[in-house]
Amino acid sequence: MQFDDDADLDTSEVRDVRGSRVPGGRATIGGGIAGFIALVLGLLFGVGPDQLGLSSGNPEPVATSSSVSEVQQSCRTGRDANSREDCRLVAVVNSTQDFWKGEFTRRGGRYAPASTVFFTGRVNTGCGTATSAVGPFYCPVDRRVYLDLGFFEELRTKFGASGGPFAQAYVVAHEYGHHVQNLTGTLQKAQDGRQGANSNAVKVELQADCYAGVWAHNATRTPDGSTGRPLITSLTDEDIRDGLDAAAAIGDDRIQERFQGRVTPESWTHGSARQRQQWFYQGYRTGDMAQCNTFR
Ligand SMILES: [Zn+2]
Repeated sequence: MQFDDDADLDTSEVRDVRGSRVPGGRATIGGGIAGFIALVLGLLFGVGPDQLGLSSGNPEPVATSSSVSEVQQSCRTGRDANSREDCRLVAVVNSTQDFWKGEFTRRGGRYAPASTVFFTGRVNTGCGTATSAVGPFYCPVDRRVYLDLGFFEELRTKFGASGGPFAQAYVVAHEYGHHVQNLTGTLQKAQDGRQGANSNAVKVELQADCYAGVWAHNATRTPDGSTGRPLITSLTDEDIRDGLDAAAAIGDDRIQERFQGRVTPESWTHGSARQRQQWFYQGYRTGDMAQCNTFR
C-alpha cells in the first residue's frame, strides 16, 4: 500500500488522545481474565459496548488535550503516511471517508463524517468507558471509531494474523463500514440481542467486511480532497492477501478454537473465518455496496 507523497493528510478526522489519562472510578469495560475472553469474543471489531449490555454511565466527551497532538504534529503529507504507522492510519481514515462521501453523493444521499480516536489504555466514549482489551470498535452513539494502535501487535501475536499495513487498513475500513450502516439504518438491525451463525449481529458484521472490500476496490481511484488525485496510489495482491488473512484470523471459529478450544456456532457474533473472507472479497471484487446484502 503506497500513498501519494505530495497529498496533504486531514488530521481533523482523527482525535489523538494517546497518553492522556482518563479519570478512574467509573465502571469499566474490560479488565479481568474472564472478562477479557468474553470481550474478545463479543466485541472484537464490534460496535459499541452498550449493545452487549456491558456499558454504564452517560456519554462523556473524549478528553481533549490543549497541546497539539502527535498526529497533528507529525502527519502532514502522504510521505509521512508512507513512513509512519499512525500517519498511515490517518491516511486510511481520509481515504475511506473520501470514498464514502463520494458514494453517498452519487446515490443522492449525504455522508456525515465520523472521526477516529487513537487512545491508549482506556477511553471514555458515548458507549461507556472502554479499555484496549475490547479491541477496535465503532460507537454508534457518538459516531466515532476507537482504536488503540497496540491492537495491531496483538493481531499478529494473539490472533496469529500475518499483519501488514493493509491488515490494519482492513480493520479501519471495517469500522467505517459500521458507520455507513449507522447512517443507512442497517446497524439497528443488529440490536435484537441475539447471536449465533444466522443472527442479524453476524449479518451486520459480514456486511461491514463487505463494505471494507468495496472501499479497497475503489481506494486507488478515489480522489483526495487536497490534490484531486488518489491518496492511495497502489494496492498490491499481497496487500489484499494481508486483508483476507486478517479477516480469517478474527473469524469466530478461529477465535473460539484458539481461546476456548472448541467451536460453538450458536454463540457467533461476527461470522466464520471463511464467511469473513468471502464477504470482504465480494466487496473487493465488485466494488459495489449493493452487492453487500448479507441479509438476503
Ligand atoms: Zn464489526
